[in-house]
Amino acid sequence: MKKSADLNPRILVEKDKKHIWHPFTQMKEWQEEAIIVIKKGEGVYLEDVEGKRYLDGVSSLWCNVHGHQVPEIDEAIRDQMAQISHSTFLGLSNIPAIELSEKLIEITPKSLTRVFYSDSGSEAVEIALKMAFQYWKQKGKVKKKKFAKLTQAYHGDTLGSVSVGGIDLFHGIYGPLLFETYPVPSPYQYRWPSGSDPETVKRESLAEMERVFREHHEEIAAFVMEPLMQGAAGMIHQPSGYISRARELTKEYNILLIFDEVATGFGRTGKMFALEHENVTPDLLAVAKGLTGGYLPLAATLTTEDIYSAFLGKHEELKTFFHGHTYTANPLACRAALANIDLFEKNQVLEHLEPKIGFLKKRLESFYNIPIVGDVRQVGLMAGIELVKDQKTKEPFPLEAKIGIRATKRAVHKGAFLRPLGDVVVLMPPLGITQDELGRLLDITYEAIDEESEEILAR
Ligand SMILES: *Cc1c(COP(=O)(O)O)cnc(C)c1O
Repeated sequence: MKKSADLNPRILVEKDKKHIWHPFTQMKEWQEEAIIVIKKGEGVYLEDVEGKRYLDGVSSLWCNVHGHQVPEIDEAIRDQMAQISHSTFLGLSNIPAIELSEKLIEITPKSLTRVFYSDSGSEAVEIALKMAFQYWKQKGKVKKKKFAKLTQAYHGDTLGSVSVGGIDLFHGIYGPLLFETYPVPSPYQYRWPSGSDPETVKRESLAEMERVFREHHEEIAAFVMEPLMQGAAGMIHQPSGYISRARELTKEYNILLIFDEVATGFGRTGKMFALEHENVTPDLLAVAKGLTGGYLPLAATLTTEDIYSAFLGKHEELKTFFHGHTYTANPLACRAALANIDLFEKNQVLEHLEPKIGFLKKRLESFYNIPIVGDVRQVGLMAGIELVKDQKTKEPFPLEAKIGIRATKRAVHKGAFLRPLGDVVVLMPPLGITQDELGRLLDITYEAIDEESEEILAR
């Protein structure tokens, strides 16, 4: 541990502001704000250098699963460290990566039989795109080189992943650098033009999906989507039956299906993977975030024997998948992932999740009493509360109102760390949260939004 002078909160803040450029952050505002420097974590709590504690309401950006300082994961990493922390995966293999691949294949659908490792969700998606593209080329279908995606999608920040994304607020500026895609309208029930009835939204959005596939299937290599819930899009959930129909249509039109379960994977929706809700098997599956329980950066792209085999050939045929990162299949991260997955069984995480999901659902209903709450959406232990200027007309707040930021800042003051997605307040606590802790998180969130609402109405 460093000596106490180095931990002086004021000096730490000063140094941060002097040297660091934070992700997704307007640094001009950061410079002017009081910032929080985290010193430790315990269970579902974060603690800052001043000793103030915060409920980790967004699982340290959607990745924490069992809480912080989980003895089993800590120990697994320490054990591995006593062996080796890293060796390359190019030309070598390692024990934790082998064990983890077996485990991943065991817990995902049967026909996913191959695991390709990387370090982040963006890369896992990017790899799926490249595999799909190269697959068709090597199968002789050279025209299949485009991708279909859902509007408002978020699949990461590297340029390939941004190309299949659709959040203009983040990515509009990079337009000239992106490849062209075919957008399919996201089944956003709250703001669907012809009304919010789930059956209507499902029918009309799927009809549009089918139209895109029918007209362009000869050029479309793959359709990429988050199953069940588009997270970073603002927690947009899909009507039941949507993902199975997407699977049928992609099969019918000979288009590969890529599921991005970076956010929805590892118990988040109440099942280990969101695809289990409708027993759908994609051709490629991207996982990351919860994979290591929120401990270390690790991601994986799983695929079928059919896709894998298309890359087999003689050296000089150049069918190899030329992709890899320095830290691919890092042993510490793989060991953490193994410990994380073991804990699901040991602690019966999914069984204990059921009542928490029900409790969250029930408590979320009361949020409609707040005049600025327009819509509340939930799948499993992921929820979004959309704030609007007018409940009746659904008119959004102007961007400069920074309503999401303001509401979540209030929550932080009250002891719950939350982050918004635009005007949507996100609740995404670690799965290991107790019902009491969840209740406290909801109390704080309610108070924060309610106070914000009162202040607006008083104006
Ligand atoms: C977070 C996220 C990503 C990107 O993952 P990173 O690890 O941040 O690169 C991709 N897809 C989805 C659905 C995500 O939620």
